[in-house]
Amino acid sequence: MAFTNEQLERYSRHIILKEVGVKGQKKLLNAKVLIIGAGGLGSPAALYLAAAGVGTIGIADADAVDLSNLQRQVIHTTNDVGRKKVDSAAETMRAINPDVTVNTYHEYVTSANILDLIKDYDFVIDGTDNFPAKFLINDACVMAKKPLSHAGIIRFKGQLTTIVPGEGPCYRCIFETPPPKDAVPTCKEAGVIGAMGGVIGSLQAMEAIKYITGAGDLLVGYLLTYDALKMEFRKIKLPPRGKGCAVCSDEPTITELIDYELPACELKQGNEE
Ligand SMILES: [Zn+2]
Repeated sequence: MAFTNEQLERYSRHIILKEVGVKGQKKLLNAKVLIIGAGGLGSPAALYLAAAGVGTIGIADADAVDLSNLQRQVIHTTNDVGRKKVDSAAETMRAINPDVTVNTYHEYVTSANILDLIKDYDFVIDGTDNFPAKFLINDACVMAKKPLSHAGIIRFKGQLTTIVPGEGPCYRCIFETPPPKDAVPTCKEAGVIGAMGGVIGSLQAMEAIKYITGAGDLLVGYLLTYDALKMEFRKIKLPPRGKGCAVCSDEPTITELIDYELPACELKQGNEE
């Protein structure tokens, strides 16, 4: 595949980087990334991956754009209120970069559909906002051996890690099981500063780009935390993979996907952050 003149110009700032170059840009154009949740994290991730020329981007979300989303979900505009988030997000991505094929999935991820959703993708971005979805996505990615960027944001704090099954610890290695229902406040209850999605969602896009191009070191085996009020990033080394983990150890006790119950207040809310 040779680049057109337009592509050479569009991607010139990538191509000039020795870590990317023509080869890396071709890898991006051939890559397939699935973003689960077109919300606070999924929005910046989708914008940067589309701009970077990731050739196929899947976006899964069952919700419609709400006015209260616009403070952080920057892929949608005021005119999109009421539209399906996947349609609004797809339109923005296509407008940014016609090289990108966008696949939309207007559905919640569940144990019934997730393996089918992720199977054709090279990398998965978890942009959801609730523990049941995060455990489900982790377990499915471990079982299907799909690399995954996990992230979470609330108030002025964010965290992320990158999970490459077989290479480092998974989300369940760190957190084991979801917290009791209603024990942890949601963004709706606790609030979240809009730019937090921008910081952490962009880092998720960065990890996807690094995974695809092979540039640098991934956040495998580390949890990065960001405290905006203290303006403090911490990179915390995680214990090694698998010892006793119910899903990624050599003798897993969880071999089928689990649909944990959502807190009551989240049932109508959908599963994006
Ligand atoms: Zn694990």
